[in-house]
Amino acid sequence: MIVLKFGGTSVGNLERVRNAAAIIESQPMPRAAVVSAASGVTNLLLDAASKAASSDFSGMEAVLAEIEGKHFAVIDGIDSPEERRGARDVVDRLHAELRDSLGQASESRMVPGALSDRIVSIGERAMSAIMAATLRDRGTPAVHLFANEVIATDDRHGNARPDRDRTREQADAVVRPHLEAGATVVMTGFIGGAPDGSITTLGRGGSDYSATLLGAALMADEVQIWTDVPGVLSADPRQVKHARVVPQISFDEAQELAHFGAKVLHPRTIRPAVAVDIPVRILSTFAPNEPGTLVTREWSGKHLKAVTAMRNLQLLTVDVPELEDLSGAAARVFGTLYEDRVEVVLVSQASSRRRMTYLIDGASSGGCEPVLDRLADSLQNFDAVINCTPDVAIVAAVGHGAAEQPKALAQLLAALGRAGVTVLASSQQTSNAALVAAIPAQDADKAVEAVHTEFIRPLSENGGSRRRRRADLMGESVRVG
Ligand code: ADP
Ligand code: ASP
Ligand code: MG
Repeated sequence: MIVLKFGGTSVGNLERVRNAAAIIESQPMPRAAVVSAASGVTNLLLDAASKAASSDFSGMEAVLAEIEGKHFAVIDGIDSPEERRGARDVVDRLHAELRDSLGQASESRMVPGALSDRIVSIGERAMSAIMAATLRDRGTPAVHLFANEVIATDDRHGNARPDRDRTREQADAVVRPHLEAGATVVMTGFIGGAPDGSITTLGRGGSDYSATLLGAALMADEVQIWTDVPGVLSADPRQVKHARVVPQISFDEAQELAHFGAKVLHPRTIRPAVAVDIPVRILSTFAPNEPGTLVTREWSGKHLKAVTAMRNLQLLTVDVPELEDLSGAAARVFGTLYEDRVEVVLVSQASSRRRMTYLIDGASSGGCEPVLDRLADSLQNFDAVINCTPDVAIVAAVGHGAAEQPKALAQLLAALGRAGVTVLASSQQTSNAALVAAIPAQDADKAVEAVHTEFIRPLSENGGSRRRRRADLMGESVRVG
């Protein structure tokens, strides 16, 4: 059983949808595909929602026309008139539902989480119907499913957490019969269903997570993440032009990379795969014969394999003149952050126990600023001075074993120092797979470049040997030291 996931660019237009369909057909049965919305559609849907809420109706109509145009351009490429009509019917109904939801947003002049998720789910729902019709048009039996019937979640709209047990039951009841009947299942990525039946979403980029959740629920042999880069690279290739493919990484390493901002995987993608030990492969729809990156439990060598940056962070510091009971104070901080669903990315504490430092995800519930007053209240008895600094980033270098070598952190800090990057906090204890430094956000690009140059050898230094060059291209990375 194989689960294949296709990201937005990989289903972005008629030619890309056909290309993805051919990749699906190249895999053995049973198989399920998980699809994202066509590239750009999720942002357009969010834009339409905010225009509706602010009564910008002409703007909203222009955005709707763009969304509809993207869908119709692919549907019009389906050869068989029945399949074309069938896909058009489903997508017309979705567009009508979208208009209805936008009407509600404009009436109430706001877009509450549940409504936003319903609006934004249209992109994935439309693409699942389009992909299934495309497969049938090519002679491959296929059905589309909306994941709110399969992936069970809580009710945290916009960032829902899955219920794995219920998801397994629903996958057995809803997906498995189609697989057993010999159909390729095409399921929407990104979305789930809350206990009250409303549609939820798993956070931006969440279709990767949908794929491993489905893979784990069905005990798949492999989950394939088909995207627009030839695997996990040693850095974001949009940022570092010498970045190269890493052929194999461990679950731990992939989790650290995803957690610290490597967009190629949604941060929570690897967890379901770890739980049931399913290999995950990252592959390119633009180069489907390349080996890509294989993520498994095993790890090899004490290498730093990749560098990543996480932006949009805030630094929350809590200074206390005298702290007898650290856990008491920390419990209050965590309690307050939890109530507002503020995500903590990294925690550290000065050995004197007078400063606690929390790196906060600025995108979750507006970060630390909105909770400052309540934090001050809850820490009243501690005489605490609390500060929230915006515009912070993290640069992380990932590699099992390498990250625990004492020399490695010094080398990372030295490289940042030479690049003129101020380090606000640093750690090599987040796990033994990552070295981490908090830095000013404006220096993130410079920091990634500097750390990549320090730890990952440029191709030009590979000597003349062709074999050596090939090994490097295949993603060997340099040892620390
Ligand atoms: P999809 O739509 O297929 O989910 P994404 O845009 O979400 O694709 O993720 C793929 C992108 O991730 C790449 O185009 C690349 O710019 C970015 N990226 C960031 N870090 C890395 C990395 N270490 N390796 C590969 N790609 C990365
Ligand atoms: N379409 C969603 C997004 O743009 C989910 C995904 O692409 O993974 O965030
Ligand atoms: Mg993605």
